[in-house]
Amino acid sequence: MTQPPFRVGTGYDIHPLKAGRPCVLGGVSIPSEVGPDGHSDADVVLHAAADAVLGAAGLRDIGHHFPNTDEACRGMDSALILAAAAREAAKAGWKVGNLDLVVVAERPKLSAHVPAMRSRIAGILEIDPSQVGIKATTNEGMDAVGQGRALAVHAVCLLFRA
Ligand code: MG
Repeated sequence: MTQPPFRVGTGYDIHPLKAGRPCVLGGVSIPSEVGPDGHSDADVVLHAAADAVLGAAGLRDIGHHFPNTDEACRGMDSALILAAAAREAAKAGWKVGNLDLVVVAERPKLSAHVPAMRSRIAGILEIDPSQVGIKATTNEGMDAVGQGRALAVHAVCLLFRA
């Protein structure tokens, strides 16, 4: 059966924000009074990105590859998770065409950090920063994200046949 040489995948993640937690988003340390809470370094941006890559390749999600019950994953640098997702996709014959992200956060303010996040994510995926889109938006004061108690990320990834 003939298959198209492209695949698209989506990813979504949300983590609570907690006072005193380090704030690492998109692989970049961001000065902030709050940071995402979680088992790994809780880099919600890289988690959503990794799931988009895995989904496009038709592979299982990051919870399957890196269970939050696994002590080995505690405090883990999520750059390793995204790199592993790209490696798994590459094993299946896919390369990342582009990745586009929407970061929904009332705090910290992210716009000044977007260029660094794009470069870092591109570095992890071994692609050009022009292949990584990042938009930062808010939830206009509504729900837990809007009230600054959580941070959510939506991701889309296009893969092409290597
Ligand atoms: Mg996560």
